Amino acid sequence: MAASESPPLVKARKAPRLTAKQEIQTIRNLPRVQRGIVIMKIAGVFLLAIGFEGLVTGQYWYSVLFVPLGVLVAMLPIRIRTGMCIACQAPLQKDAAICTTCGAPQM
Ligand SMILES: [Zn+2]
Repeated sequence: MAASESPPLVKARKAPRLTAKQEIQTIRNLPRVQRGIVIMKIAGVFLLAIGFEGLVTGQYWYSVLFVPLGVLVAMLPIRIRTGMCIACQAPLQKDAAICTTCGAPQM
């Protein structure tokens, strides 16, 4: 048994460069996702405002309904952001500012 075949070199895998197609896809996805995040944040603040308005006017069911809803809607985009890349949907490391897969900046 003289099989002294050297094991294949384990090279550190470099992140693949963006192809032109991927780059276009990234640019296409970015504004839509970012717009969605902005809309959700505004909607969350708006819902919170309705909830607090309910507190002021004594219509507490307004607050019970809209305050948790506003918090939820406002928090949702943050979850999406920390979960995965907004451009290529690859899983992201927690609080990563730039996607390690495609290099797209995370908002
Ligand atoms: Zn990515």
